[in-house]
Amino acid sequence: MEKRKLLFEGKAKCLYATDREGCLIQRFKDEVVNEGEGQRMSIAGKGETNNGIACFLFQYLESHHVPTHFIERHGPAEMVVRKLAMIPVQVVMHNIAMAKLAKTFDLAEGSPLSYPIQEYFLKSDKLGNPMVNEHHALALGYAQPEEMRTIGRLSSKINAILKSFFERRGLLLMGFRVEFGKQGEQIYVGDEISLDTCHFWDKKSNCRLDVAHADQDPLEIEKAYRELYGRMTNSS
Ligand code: ATP
Repeated sequence: MEKRKLLFEGKAKCLYATDREGCLIQRFKDEVVNEGEGQRMSIAGKGETNNGIACFLFQYLESHHVPTHFIERHGPAEMVVRKLAMIPVQVVMHNIAMAKLAKTFDLAEGSPLSYPIQEYFLKSDKLGNPMVNEHHALALGYAQPEEMRTIGRLSSKINAILKSFFERRGLLLMGFRVEFGKQGEQIYVGDEISLDTCHFWDKKSNCRLDVAHADQDPLEIEKAYRELYGRMTNSS
């Protein structure tokens, strides 16, 4: 497959056109953005490890009948994906009360939730990514009710699949965010599922395994990506 023009450069990834109809190449950058402070840092090797994590998880979800945009790995830090018309609503799933959720509902940070909580946010840096619901989505033209139902149902399914996958590897999936898009009438999981979008509690070391809380030392951050990838690929 031939990589053509750069179509989009975001904070964590670049998207390229290809010579194959309906396909893009998604390249994972070596850059990491601290969610809390928005601080950017370059971490050598991060793009490759994160691509490995995302390729693995997309294939795992596909094997559980979750449609994803993943087609194949394309070199160390790249994957071939379906070109999607992205739905501008990001789903955030919580299994544990963390940060903003804990503060909003006056819960002790780290309390387990009786049931997972699903929240929707408009993907718009300009508007500060406001929280939205099905009514905003319909009235403001972000997604149809049926599409919102599908992304909600798929997010719950992803949560159940990944929670149990990571549980068996000594990791508690505290929460994650996920994006969806359409090719024709079909809705697919897009973007990435990786250490940039998931938060874990490591039962082995009894501390968080995620980028927002990794020490700012680039070597520590790189170690966190490798630790997760190793845990995913080495256990049965
Ligand atoms: P963030 O998502 O963290 O706010 P960003 O918008 O800068 O940051 P990146 O992850 O760096 O995002 O870039 C990826 C961009 O590509 C996102 O805007 C995402 O919605 C979009 N995207 C992801 N998968 C696809 C796809 N299969 N087809 C078209 N666009 C996609």
